[in-house]
Amino acid sequence: GNGAHVPVLVIGTGYGGSVAALRLAQAGVNVHMVEMGMAWDTPGSDGKIFPRITEPDQRSFWLRTRTKQPLSNFLGFPIDRNIPRYTGILDAEDFSGITVYQGRGIGGGSLVNGGMAVTPRQEHFGSILPSVNAGEMYTTYYPRANATLGVNHVDPAWWETTACYQYARVGRKHAQRSNFPYVLVPSVYDFEYMKQEMAGSVPKSATDTELLYGNNHGKKSLQKTYLAQARATGRVTISPLHKVTSVVPASGGGYTITIEQLNTNGDVVATKTVTANRVFFAAGSVGTSKLLVKLKATGALPGLNGEIGKGWGENGNVMCGRANHLWDPTGSLQATVPTGGIDNWNAGGAFAEVAPLPTGIETWASFYLSITNTPQRAQFTWNASAGRVDLNWQTSWKQTSINMAKTIFDKINSKEGTIYRTDLFGVYKIWGDHLTYHPLGGAVLNRATDNYGRLHGYSGLYVIDGALIPGNTTVNPFVTITALAERNIEKIIATDL
Ligand code: FAD
Repeated sequence: GNGAHVPVLVIGTGYGGSVAALRLAQAGVNVHMVEMGMAWDTPGSDGKIFPRITEPDQRSFWLRTRTKQPLSNFLGFPIDRNIPRYTGILDAEDFSGITVYQGRGIGGGSLVNGGMAVTPRQEHFGSILPSVNAGEMYTTYYPRANATLGVNHVDPAWWETTACYQYARVGRKHAQRSNFPYVLVPSVYDFEYMKQEMAGSVPKSATDTELLYGNNHGKKSLQKTYLAQARATGRVTISPLHKVTSVVPASGGGYTITIEQLNTNGDVVATKTVTANRVFFAAGSVGTSKLLVKLKATGALPGLNGEIGKGWGENGNVMCGRANHLWDPTGSLQATVPTGGIDNWNAGGAFAEVAPLPTGIETWASFYLSITNTPQRAQFTWNASAGRVDLNWQTSWKQTSINMAKTIFDKINSKEGTIYRTDLFGVYKIWGDHLTYHPLGGAVLNRATDNYGRLHGYSGLYVIDGALIPGNTTVNPFVTITALAERNIEKIIATDL
C-alpha cells in the first residue's frame, strides 16, 4: 500500500525480475514486484484468458485503438483492425526508426513469446557477454535456467510425422538441399501437451493459432515456473497495473519509489510512494533504459554513469517469406511454436528460425525470423522538450541484417528456383525490417553496472534484465537473460545481503 516499506522492490515481472524474486525469497528476503501490465488470470466473455492470433481483440494490444500486427499484410491486403483501447498483452512500442514488441503483464515477455529456449553455442559466448566467465555459465547457470524454465525437447519421431510441423520439415528440406545445417531447438512449450492436442484429447492451444497474444494451455510461461515457485515461498507479492515512474534516494537511506496505478484504459487512478532498501530494475531492455535515462537526466539519480542508455541492439531481427512451388505445401495446420532454425552464423552472420504462418489455409509460403550479427547499436536519450525518452535507431541500419539473411535465402531461392514473398509486410515489400522482438541493452553489464548488475553510483540499485546484454545473443535471448540473472543474483545474495 501507499507509504509502505519493503526490503526489496522489483520493477517488472519478466525473466530477470522473476529470477531475482524467486532467489531472494528463497534466501529469506521479502520481495514486492510491481508490474505495469495486467495479471492475466481471469477469462474474458469468451471464457478464455487469451485470444487467438487470428482474432485479435482488445486483449491483444497495449493501449492501441488499432492492431499493429507484425505481419501487417496478407496477399498484399492490410489485415489490421480497430479494437477498443485497453491494457492488452502485446505492446508494439514505436520509436522513430523501429517498433519494439514486448509483453505486458505478470510474466512479461514469457506471455507472448514463441517459447524457443535456445542456449547459444559456447564458442559464441565471448562475443555476447565478454566480461562473464563462460565456463561457469555453461556448467552452472544455463543448466539452472533451463531446468527452472521447464525447457523440453520435441520428440524427433513425432516431429517427423505430425501434420502441424509440415512447415518446419519443408524449412529443413530447403535448408539442407542448400547445405545449411538445420537444428531442432528446445522450447518452453510442453511438447507432450502438443501431442495430446493433435490426438484430440485436450483443449488445443499451439495447434489452434494461440501465440503472440498469450497461450491458454501448453506454454510454460513464467506464471507457471519461476513466479509460481516464488509465490509459493509466501515472501513475494505482485501488484499488476502499477507502473514505476521514479526512484530517488530516500533521506533515511534506501530509495523512494513513485508508482502510478492504472485502470484498463491506461488512466492513472492513484499515485503511491513506497520505500525500499534495494531496487531491481527488471522492466526489460526498453523499460529499464527508459527509466534510467529519464532518472539520470532529470536529476533523480544524477550519479548514474555515462553508459546509461547506450549499447542497445535489436538482435539483428529481420523477417521474410519465400514462395514455394505447388509441390511443397507448408500445411494449413501449423503449430504456432517454432521448433528449429537454419544456422549460418559463422559463415554468413545469420540464424534463421523457421516460423509458422498460422492462417488456417494453405499458403505455400515459408516464413522466417532471422537473428543476425549486425554491428549496429543505438542509444536512448532524454528529450526534455517532449518529456520522453527517444531511441536513435535508423531503419536503414537493418540493411546489414538483410544482407546477412540473404546469405541463406538467396541461396535457397536459387537452388529451389523460388522467389521471396512480397505481400506480407506491405505491397511489393520483401523484408520485415521495421521491428524487433528481441530488444537488448541500454544498461550494459560491466559498463553502466559492475560485472554483476550493480548500478554505478548508487548502492542497492541493480539491473537484472535484458538491458544488461549489449545488443545481441546470436540466438533467441530469454535463456541467456535468465541464466545471466541467475549468475548475478547468486553473487548479490552472497555478498550484498
Ligand atoms: P520482459 O520480459 O520484457 O519483462 C519486463 C516487464 O516489466 C514487463 O512485464 C513490463 O510490462 C514490465 N515493465 C516495464 N516497464 C515498467 C514500469 N515502468 N513499471 C512496472 N513494470 C514495468 N525470446 C526467446 O528467447 N525465444 C522466443 O521464442 C521469443 N519469442 C518472442 C516473440 C515475441 C512476439 C516477443 C515480443 C518476444 C520474443 N522473445 C523471445 C523475446 C523475449 O520474450 C524477451 O527477450 C524477454 O521477455 C525479455 O526479458 P526481460 O526480463 O528483459 O524483460
